[in-house]
Amino acid sequence: AALPEAEKELIRRREKLLGPAYRLFYQQPVHIVRGEGVWLYDPQGNAYLDVYNNVASVGHCHPKVVQALARQASTLNTHTRYLHETILDYAERLLAKVPAELGHIMFTCTGSEANDLALRITRAYTGRQGMIVTRLAYHGLTSAVSELSPSLGDFVKPGPHVRFVAPPDGYRGEADVGAAFAAGVRAAIDDMRAQGIEPAALLVDTIFSSDGVFADPPGFLKEAVAAIREAGGLFIADEVQPGFGRVGPQFWGFTRHGLVPDMVTVGKPMGNGHPMAGVMMKPHLVEEFGRKARYFNTFGGNPVACAVGLAVLDVMEGEGLPERAREVGDYMRAGLRDLAGRCEAIGDVRGAGQFTGLELVEDRATKAPAAGLTTRIVNGLRERRVLISATGPGANILKIRPPLAFAREHADIFLDRFADALKANA
Ligand code: PMP
Repeated sequence: AALPEAEKELIRRREKLLGPAYRLFYQQPVHIVRGEGVWLYDPQGNAYLDVYNNVASVGHCHPKVVQALARQASTLNTHTRYLHETILDYAERLLAKVPAELGHIMFTCTGSEANDLALRITRAYTGRQGMIVTRLAYHGLTSAVSELSPSLGDFVKPGPHVRFVAPPDGYRGEADVGAAFAAGVRAAIDDMRAQGIEPAALLVDTIFSSDGVFADPPGFLKEAVAAIREAGGLFIADEVQPGFGRVGPQFWGFTRHGLVPDMVTVGKPMGNGHPMAGVMMKPHLVEEFGRKARYFNTFGGNPVACAVGLAVLDVMEGEGLPERAREVGDYMRAGLRDLAGRCEAIGDVRGAGQFTGLELVEDRATKAPAAGLTTRIVNGLRERRVLISATGPGANILKIRPPLAFAREHADIFLDRFADALKANA
């Protein structure tokens, strides 16, 4: 179907006003004007099932979060240089959800800033520069962390201090993913040392979202973390994607691996759409940084953000969303595996909680990525009013990552429409 005039006009205005660096999803871009729970609505009132948005984790426009935001915004919104209870109440609430060794939290507005701050603290504490990240990692958009985000493509040139390691891919890689991943980290350490660079930190997204979603077996990260620590470096867990209950009641990706990171960065679902993010850390790491550097973030940790953050945790706990993420996520993967029994194109279904990666392949023996099919499925689902996207080096891994408010009935709708899109395109 041709794109309606109204949407064509929006595209023209975007190009004119926003310039060439923005990208839209889909051959037939989606125009949405309202969200509620796991549904998004276009101007005609058609409902689209959101199977992709990990930010609106407790559901789009959750009334309790919206109320908390409106209440605080109509009372006071200022910065962190006056005394205020809410930032402390929120800090206490969130720090209670991580291991006791992580004693401080600092607030930012975006995950990029959180990783940028973690990088500065790492450099100040270790006095070193060497950073290790995975081959297709995304950690953010500042100049410093875009060099740690190879998924941005060749345009960003990493500095001499950065090493990329193969992700812990249990589908295409070695059988012992933990040993293989650790071997990659050790080789990266040796390689930087050979060039006079000391390792400062291993920074990983603990669900390896942009690398292709790698969750199993739990604990596989331990050996690599031991390797970086042995070399005097830190382990930073980027929990922007897996954190806040997405992987289930363990709440964080690193918990599944039985690890206590030196620093943890958080964002996205923390504010359910309100821009808030942060870094939690072991207190000794930031002592010197705190003495020498002044930290001020105009919007980070303001009373509105912290009121929103508290409401998000209230809803998560009140509605048992981490438990639901595990239950509905497992249900969904079981349904997808069942479908794989009938469809050769599904090469692998993996994940944890409400984070699933599904590989579409040309051939199960060669595992050749079916990038063309994946694009057709993503667009085919869009026609069936299901929103989803793809990732991975072969652009063939569907990222199935709905709001945690997703229930079994929504999983059933998704499974039906996905089966239909496969039948029409595979
Ligand atoms: N880390 C990870 C793992 C992410 O997925 C993202 C965002 N996609 C970021 C950091 C950056 O967060 P933000 O877009 O809020 O700057």
